[in-house]
Amino acid sequence: MSFETLGLAPALLRALAEQGYADPTPIQAAAIPPALEGRDLLAGAQTGTGKTAAFSLPLLHRLYTGERKPATPKTPRALVLTPTRELAAQVHDSVRAYGKHLSVRATTIFGGVGMQPQVEALRRGVEILVATPGRLLDHIQQRSVNLSHIEVLILDEADRMLDMGFLPSIKRILGHLPKQNRVTWLFSATFAPEIKALAGEFMREPVEIQI
Ligand code: AMP
Repeated sequence: MSFETLGLAPALLRALAEQGYADPTPIQAAAIPPALEGRDLLAGAQTGTGKTAAFSLPLLHRLYTGERKPATPKTPRALVLTPTRELAAQVHDSVRAYGKHLSVRATTIFGGVGMQPQVEALRRGVEILVATPGRLLDHIQQRSVNLSHIEVLILDEADRMLDMGFLPSIKRILGHLPKQNRVTWLFSATFAPEIKALAGEFMREPVEIQI
């Protein structure tokens, strides 16, 4: 199994070669093909398995190599929710590294820092938004972010977000996303009943992957 056979775009293959990645990890081999087909994913994977690339690569492929490529994107087309600011920053770095040969516009939104620079970044226009749930809700409330054009929703480390008490926030955020023409990729190390319930409520016939 190689990255080529998974169907990723040349610009992504080039970035992966430059990162020194020879072959996909098991979670990448299992998740990337159905993700590229536009299926929802319910993926069980621990940190360190290569899960970030498992969702970042199909995300970048979908946003930047399809026929629909808006010339002047203003509102985010993808939302990645993470439990912590550290993880948000890490996902942002990965998206930038894998997307280095594409014109990716990504930003992070997390608490503990001022709102204003984030408001300005959103106003300049961003396609990939990586956010922690609490601060994203603050932006939703003050209308500095528009989530009505989200095509891809990624929940990273969903079990940790639930452990941290983010379930009500996540549900409120989900209420601001389009119901149609959206795919959802949920990654979690464990699958407590609440995660299964969330998936049942907000996902469409997800492909289940367990590594
Ligand atoms: P993650 O599980 O996403 O936190 O990734 C764990 C580490 O594996 C990161 O440092 C990645 O850069 C690295 N990694 C991800 N995919 C691959 C791959 N296919 N080959 C080699 N290293 C990888």
